[in-house]
Amino acid sequence: MTDAPLQTFDDALAELDAAGLRRQRRVVEAIDGPRLQIGGCWLLSFCSNDYLGLSQHPALVAAAQAAAGRYGVGAGASPMVSGHSIEHERLEEELAAFVGREQALYFYAGYPANVGIVPALVGRGDAVFSDALNHACLIDGARLSRAEIHAYPHGDLATLDGLLAATTAQRKLVISDAVFSMDGDIAPVPELLALCERHDAYLMVDDAHGFGVIGPEGRGTAAHFGLASPRLIYMATLGKAAGVAGAFVAGDAPVIEWILQRARSYMFATGAPAMVAATLRASLKVIAAEGWRREQLRQRIAQLRAGLAGLPWTLLPSDTAIQPLIVGSNACALQLMAQLQQAGLWVPAIRPPTVPANTARLRIALSAVHTQADVDTLLAALQAAAS
Ligand SMILES: *Cc1c(COP(=O)(O)O)cnc(C)c1O
Repeated sequence: MTDAPLQTFDDALAELDAAGLRRQRRVVEAIDGPRLQIGGCWLLSFCSNDYLGLSQHPALVAAAQAAAGRYGVGAGASPMVSGHSIEHERLEEELAAFVGREQALYFYAGYPANVGIVPALVGRGDAVFSDALNHACLIDGARLSRAEIHAYPHGDLATLDGLLAATTAQRKLVISDAVFSMDGDIAPVPELLALCERHDAYLMVDDAHGFGVIGPEGRGTAAHFGLASPRLIYMATLGKAAGVAGAFVAGDAPVIEWILQRARSYMFATGAPAMVAATLRASLKVIAAEGWRREQLRQRIAQLRAGLAGLPWTLLPSDTAIQPLIVGSNACALQLMAQLQQAGLWVPAIRPPTVPANTARLRIALSAVHTQADVDTLLAALQAAAS
C-alpha cells in the first residue's frame, strides 16, 4: 500500500518511454558561438533562441562584470520591497522608449510575466480569446485568471470575430504570440487590433521571438507593423534575441501601473539581480546599433530555405529565425535528430504536447552567429538523411 504512489510514477514514466515522449536534458560543458560541447564532443547547434548571438557579446559580459562588482549578484527581495534598483528603473524607461510606449515593467522571466499579466488584466466575468498555437505560459495565465477562455483556430480571424461578437463578458482580452514559437509565422497583428477596436477588446501580444529581430532596429513586431494603440499591450522576453534573461510588458501608463499593482508573480518573487538589468541595458544598445546581425540572420534564413527545397519533409512558411521542418511521427523526428547528431549537429525534435499530434518536427533555429558554411553543413546532413 505505502509504495503505491511511487509505482504510479514508474508506470507513468514507462508510458512516456513507450510513446517516445520522454524528454532528456543534455549537459552543456562549454559554448563557443553556435557550438556546444556535450559529453566531450562539440556539436554545431541549431537549437538556441539567442538569435543575434548576444549571450556571449563582450559588451554584455563586461556590463555584467562591472554591475556584479557594484551591486553584487542578488536583488535580495521583491521589487515591491527593496529589489528594484536604479538599473531596473533605467531599464524600464529605456525599454518603454525602445518600443515607443509610455511605460514598461520588467519581470525576471517570460513565463512568470504572462502568468502574472493575464490574471491582472481579466478575471471572473471577463473573457480571454486565445490563438490555438499560443505559448504554454499565455494559456496558463488565461487559466489562472478564471476568465472564460475561448480558443480560436490558429490565425482564424473570422472565428475570432464571431466569438467577440457573441460574448457578453465584461472585459475582453485577445492574447496571441506575435511570432509563433514552434511555427515561426507572424500573427496578423494589425487585423487582430482592428477586431479589438471593433469589439471594444484589449489585445496582448507576446513578442518573445520578434523582439530584437523584427522591425526597425529590432524594435519588435508592433514596430514592424507601425502599430500603437492604447488597446495594445506589448509583452516580450529578454532571454532570447536580447541574450540575457527576463521579460517586460509595455503600454499606456495606467495599464502598466495596474499590472504592477496586481501581478502576483511580480509582487511575490525576488527581483532579478541588478546585474541582469544592467546587462540588458547594454543589450538594448547593441540591438539598435548592430543592424548587421539582423542582416546576417536574414541571409542565413534565405540560404536555408532555398537549400531545403526538394527535401521530403514539409518546411513551414516562415520568414523568421524559426524554421520548422515537419516530420510527422515522434519516432521519425527522433530518428532524424539522431542522424544529424551523428553528423555533429544538434537540431531539436519537438514533439507533442509542445506541438499538435502528428506534427513532430525539427525546429531549426538560426542565429546571426551561424556562418554560411554552418548552414551548408546542416543542408548537406539533411540531404544525406533524406537519401
Ligand atoms: C520562451 C517563451 C516565453 C517564456 O519566456 P522565458 O523568459 O523563457 O520564461 C514566453 N512566451 C513565448 C512565446 C516564448 O517563446
